[in-house]
Amino acid sequence: MPEKLSIIVPCYNEEAAIPLFYQAVQQIQPQLEQIELEYWFINDGSQDQTLTELRKLNQLDPQHVHYASFSRNFGKEAGLFCGLQQATGDLVVVMDVDLQDPPELLPQMLQLIRSGKYDCVGTRRTNRKNEPPIRSFFAKLFYRLINRISDTPIIDGARDFRMMNRQMINAILSMQEYNRFSKGIFSWVGFRTTYLEYPNVERQAGQTSWNFWSLFKYSIDGIVAFSEIPLDISAIVGLFSCIGSGIAIIWIIFRALVYGDPTAGWPSLVCFILFVGGIQLFCLGIVGKYIGKIFLEVKHRPIYLIQEKK
Ligand code: UDP
Ligand code: MG
Repeated sequence: MPEKLSIIVPCYNEEAAIPLFYQAVQQIQPQLEQIELEYWFINDGSQDQTLTELRKLNQLDPQHVHYASFSRNFGKEAGLFCGLQQATGDLVVVMDVDLQDPPELLPQMLQLIRSGKYDCVGTRRTNRKNEPPIRSFFAKLFYRLINRISDTPIIDGARDFRMMNRQMINAILSMQEYNRFSKGIFSWVGFRTTYLEYPNVERQAGQTSWNFWSLFKYSIDGIVAFSEIPLDISAIVGLFSCIGSGIAIIWIIFRALVYGDPTAGWPSLVCFILFVGGIQLFCLGIVGKYIGKIFLEVKHRPIYLIQEKK
């Protein structure tokens, strides 16, 4: 029996991109020698005709094209996880449907995995051409920050586009956490990984479903999932403000007793109280963020719900 490669494709409002994606991969297929392809499209609660497009593809080639359709939008991470659970291939590749992950790289990825030297072949964008500069700026900032405060290295520009062998897939499936930050998970499980580099490719159809706010939330989730440093920072900030204000209080009492200083100036006092109050709220917020995540984890809710599958 030939090896099987499962292609996992999360789709959210991608009616225009799906046919283009399928064609593009089919064109590459002859270059993928001695391997059977299996598609797993995950419809992540799209409001457009994504599901109709997927049904069409499935009818065209029911043996190789499969889909799972969620009961609502659960997010790309849930889609990836579902795809990994459904995939039956010896190898799996994760791809965006908008062709920002060039299928032309597939033969080279396959070759590298087959060489036996690697368990995983990832991809990295070497530039962020045509991306809004503000998004690039914050993305860079995020990577710098998370790599400072997390023990799990997260490579700048690394895409979710990667091919993995069964051993690594099973390792990822064994991580049942609810708050799934794939960039961290791929790195956390380890295994021998190499990266192919390519210049940024623009989206071929449809539009991105990420705005600044959703990316901001995504990066906070990533930090909370892979670093405890914010908790340490909040504790340290609290400690120092405690020591500082303690010294200040002793100084004020000393001045009043020794020099009879009436210590006027309630405005400065109010500022100080507000400052300390602000630090407290900030630290509480950080703690709350982690507790919120714990709350989500202990509820053991399913990561996604499938409404239709073929
Ligand atoms: N996606 C998804 N669920 C979501 C948002 C996005 O499955 O809630 C999919 C989307 O259809 C695409 C991939 O995730 O295949 C990457 O999304 P997008 O291209 O919008 O992100 P960008 O490339 O702008 O980072
Ligand atoms: Mg994209």
